[in-house]
Amino acid sequence: MPTPLDVLVVGAGIAGLATATALHREGMSVDVIERSPERRATGAGLFLPGNSVRALTALGLGDHLSGLGALVPGQRMMDHRGRVLADIAMAELWRGTAGCVGITRANLHAALHDIVPVPVRHGVTVVSLKQSDDGVDVECSDGVSGRYDVVVGADGIRSGLRESVDPAAGARYVGQVCWRFLTDAPDIDRWTVWLGPGTTFLAYPVGEGRVCCYADVTVASPEDPTTAVGGLLGLFSGYDQRVRDLLAAPAAHEAYFSPVEEVSGETWAHGRVVLVGDAAHASSPNMAQGVAMAVEDAQVLAEVLATGGDTEHLLQQYVQRRLPRTRWVQRQTHRRDRTRSMVPAVRNIAFRYGAKALFERGYAPLRDLP
Ligand SMILES: Cc1cc2nc3c(=O)[nH]c(=O)nc-3n(C[C@H](O)[C@H](O)[C@H](O)COP(=O)(O)OP(=O)(O)OC[C@H]3O[C@@H](n4cnc5c(N)ncnc54)[C@H](O)[C@@H]3O)c2cc1C
Repeated sequence: MPTPLDVLVVGAGIAGLATATALHREGMSVDVIERSPERRATGAGLFLPGNSVRALTALGLGDHLSGLGALVPGQRMMDHRGRVLADIAMAELWRGTAGCVGITRANLHAALHDIVPVPVRHGVTVVSLKQSDDGVDVECSDGVSGRYDVVVGADGIRSGLRESVDPAAGARYVGQVCWRFLTDAPDIDRWTVWLGPGTTFLAYPVGEGRVCCYADVTVASPEDPTTAVGGLLGLFSGYDQRVRDLLAAPAAHEAYFSPVEEVSGETWAHGRVVLVGDAAHASSPNMAQGVAMAVEDAQVLAEVLATGGDTEHLLQQYVQRRLPRTRWVQRQTHRRDRTRSMVPAVRNIAFRYGAKALFERGYAPLRDLP
């Protein structure tokens, strides 16, 4: 039985909570710090494909998950006027994994907080971090200092820990800005997307008759004037009436807004500091793989560290196991972005006749265990 490691997890988002849970289960001693002074989950909803639900189930959320959100039986693609291009059955696409779920961020976050077996120290961040051959000395902003075998940077797309691992890697704008909000729409019972010229509108159920709406537009810079307050409604004025109705909801006026960015460095570990989740490999949400990749990182990291041996070597093993899969996801997000720049009439024909094959190819490797 290898000696249990002392681990500090920095960040209590999805990746941090999942990592703390998975490491603790392997017998490790885990401290978790979170910069935000209280539990909060900003943003609207999350679509969780089969591999995501499988990973969360293995972590301990079990059947609980679909009860906290909504099962999503299919994906429907339409043109911006509401003409159906393709219907994809989730049970077939994600065969062998688990049913797909839509959930609010608040519900997923709360469920992860319920299972994390250690207290989270809120309002706390890293003040100093010094690596030596046999440990990492960390001083935290609450005055607590400690020596750890491993420090995990689960601190999101703007990760500060990434500075100690790969200072050259950073978030890169991928060409779209997006808005998202929650509203009532009991009639929308599946992942439903309307594709326009350079714009996309998506709605999926998250439980209790509510949907998460996501809208995006391709613009050269996030500072483009079309993205100014109020831009959202104007961009979709030529869309299907159902989209305009959803945009008439009061919540649309307070939608969360952000540029879509990715992190694509390939160095995720330096010495005994290692990155997980968005800190390592944030991706465009167009594959809805952020949660899956974060929770799979947690599982693989715990599994690898539990084997025992040279810690730095084990961290590199974790990186080598995870890089190909997360790179695959990023390449698929780029491919999807390229289809956005196609002439809409051509793109629509491509989806009408080829969407099933495209989805099958894009997701097939993710049905395998990580
Ligand atoms: C618009 C949009 C839509 C998305 N939709 C989906 C979807 O449908 N399905 C899906 O699977 N994924 C989706 N994603 C991706 C998903 O949200 C992320 O991949 C996931 O939340 C990553 O979690 P994380 O824990 O790595 O990072 P975060 O959620 O950013 O968590 C990082 C945590 O670290 C804390 N922190 C930061 N710095 C410090 C510090 N110095 N000290 C202590 N704590 C710190 C932060 O406060 C935060 O709590 C979407 C992303 C976006 C932008």
